[in-house]
Amino acid sequence: MIKRNPNLNLLKTSYLFPEVTARRKQFLAKRPGAQILSLGIGDTTEPLSPLVVEALAMAAKRLGSMEGYIGYGPEQGIEPLRKKIASVFYDGRIAPEEIFISDGAKCDIGRLQVLFGGDLSVAIQNPAYPVYIDGSLIQGIRNIHMMCCSPENGFFPDLHALERTDLIYFCSPNNPTGAAASRSQLEALVSFARENRSLILFDAAYASYIRDSALPKSIYEIPGAKEVAIEINSFSKLAGFTGVRLGWTVVPETLKYQDGASIQSDWNRIYTTLFNGASILSQYGGLAALEKNGLEESERLTHFYLENARLIKAALQSLDIEVYGGDNAPYLWAHFPGRRSWDIFQELLEKTEIVSTPGSGFGSAGEGFLRFTAFGKRDHILSAIQRLRTIKSEKGSSFKFAMV
Ligand SMILES: *Cc1c(COP(=O)(O)O)cnc(C)c1O
Repeated sequence: MIKRNPNLNLLKTSYLFPEVTARRKQFLAKRPGAQILSLGIGDTTEPLSPLVVEALAMAAKRLGSMEGYIGYGPEQGIEPLRKKIASVFYDGRIAPEEIFISDGAKCDIGRLQVLFGGDLSVAIQNPAYPVYIDGSLIQGIRNIHMMCCSPENGFFPDLHALERTDLIYFCSPNNPTGAAASRSQLEALVSFARENRSLILFDAAYASYIRDSALPKSIYEIPGAKEVAIEINSFSKLAGFTGVRLGWTVVPETLKYQDGASIQSDWNRIYTTLFNGASILSQYGGLAALEKNGLEESERLTHFYLENARLIKAALQSLDIEVYGGDNAPYLWAHFPGRRSWDIFQELLEKTEIVSTPGSGFGSAGEGFLRFTAFGKRDHILSAIQRLRTIKSEKGSSFKFAMV
């Protein structure tokens, strides 16, 4: 029989979400009829905007007619969408030819990992979104450096202490910590990459949640980034496309390998070999989402989730919990000094029937934290907040909840 890819042995069994589900089940067995509320899901909950729905339906109708039918489109995406993304998000800094339309950011991260292969060193934030590390391990990468991001360093790695790597993954606004890097932090990151001739993979999936106008929404707002950065983005959290599937990756023409060869032309080769283009329906839906009215709808949507974040943050803070994020990201990162993430997860579940996500599941630097997401129906969020009012925190050497 066929042998297993040995790199797959390096993956730890995905423990986080299955374990959350298992804990939830155990709890329900112990307390049947418990009304569990989840503040743990990283998925959007509000419906698509009517404009997007209309565009999806129209595109489907066209495909049903002899004149309107089209088969394969260009692998890189339809031209109107590439142009639209260039003008809406990049203000002339990026040409449409540098934008590659995808079926989502996660899928493109996987293809980028194929592009670079296994013989390189990478740096990854700790804590982090799991695909950076797992995808690297699948490629056989052994040389992985973790960049600790904690309240002590303002969730930005200490670059002076960081060894040079070929690749640097950076996600801002961040999942899970909710931290959004400042302009000066990103300037430091770009100049670090330029000095070290490293390539940055910048995950901007939550850029549309940035409300502080001083914070960059794209790495290309930083001078010099076009020579050292690839940017990945998505319609998932921007317009609720988690199920529809649509994203994009920017690979600037100016990106070169050590020997001066073009990275973009290899990316195009990988793309056209492993991918046959995003769904034509999704692309027309995405195009509608970027029209003036569509952008207003998206802003309403992200505003709604940010309001959820504000409500949950205030409720947690009233319990004297230190909470990070939530202002420019749909995630809250709550600190419980002296406690282990799984213990505080369990205690919160038992006292309030609220499910969160243990921070330790995103990396060792997440120990002692819980992630709360702002994705959720408003009535669920409000009920969760009511329940948080039924507990209080007890002062002591380590954090503890008590009933009011
Ligand atoms: C949700 C998310 C994405 C988006 O992934 P899609 O495949 O486009 O749905 C990308 N990066 C991070 C960090 C995310 O949390």
